[in-house]
Amino acid sequence: MATMLEVSGLYHRYGGGDGAHLAVNDLTFTVETGELACIVGPSGCGKSTMLRCISGLIKPSGGEVSLHGDRVDGVPEDLAVVFQDYSRSLFPWLTVRQNVEFPLRWSNIGKAERRSRAEEALEWVNLPGVGNKYPWQLSGGMQQRVSIARALARRPALLLMDEPFASVDAQTRFELEDLLRKVQSANGSTVLLVTHDIDESVYLGDRVLVLSKSPATVVADLTVDLPAERDQIKTRESAEFVSMRAEVARLLNGGVKETADAVKD
Ligand code: ADP
Repeated sequence: MATMLEVSGLYHRYGGGDGAHLAVNDLTFTVETGELACIVGPSGCGKSTMLRCISGLIKPSGGEVSLHGDRVDGVPEDLAVVFQDYSRSLFPWLTVRQNVEFPLRWSNIGKAERRSRAEEALEWVNLPGVGNKYPWQLSGGMQQRVSIARALARRPALLLMDEPFASVDAQTRFELEDLLRKVQSANGSTVLLVTHDIDESVYLGDRVLVLSKSPATVVADLTVDLPAERDQIKTRESAEFVSMRAEVARLLNGGVKETADAVKD
């Protein structure tokens, strides 16, 4: 497998002088092409900061990020991000189809191709036939599916997901988790998903990277030894799942790294 994302010695410090705050400390990991990797870490440990550095939205204080071998220096064109808050990421004055097509306007894809890609992506997320509706006419779960379709329509080399299912109810969350695994495996997409939910990281991931408390550093990189086909009831009841979530919980509790720069929240 070729490496899609390489994060090497990444650190980021907000501010300077006495007010400096080290948010991310010496993160090193890779994500292979076609993999669904989950990063789990406690709230405030630096997950969003890490994602901002990976997506080129902020320049890290140190270290390097490379996407398919190219150093990230600014927002890469072939990267898409799905955020937690779908209500603020979709444009309410555009229809669902126009929302999904929106980022394609900046590529050199013709109008007919944009439309067919949008329809195709809406089918991938089980939303055929809603293209003419407005986002606010859909449930929260459906709106988040539109956000996922919008990201996939660009056929990104890497899909970053920042707590994408944290704002929906438990049943919808299960449905979206299963949908993501299905779409990811059907398209061979490379996904890096950040969550603070231990169960979600194990259920979804081919791999789970466990982060320490602030400042974030990788304390473990675990391969998820569960069958590719997962089931919300059977998988979560299985001995492998139960033992892995216990291991991740143990690592999260014991994975505190004290450094001279750490600022206690
Ligand atoms: P997470 O996503 O894991 O909750 P964040 O990356 O949002 O963590 O934040 C990590 C730490 O960096 C927190 O202590 C937060 O208060 C701090 N932080 C985040 N953004 C900024 C900023 N723009 N300026 C200063 N400190 C920040």
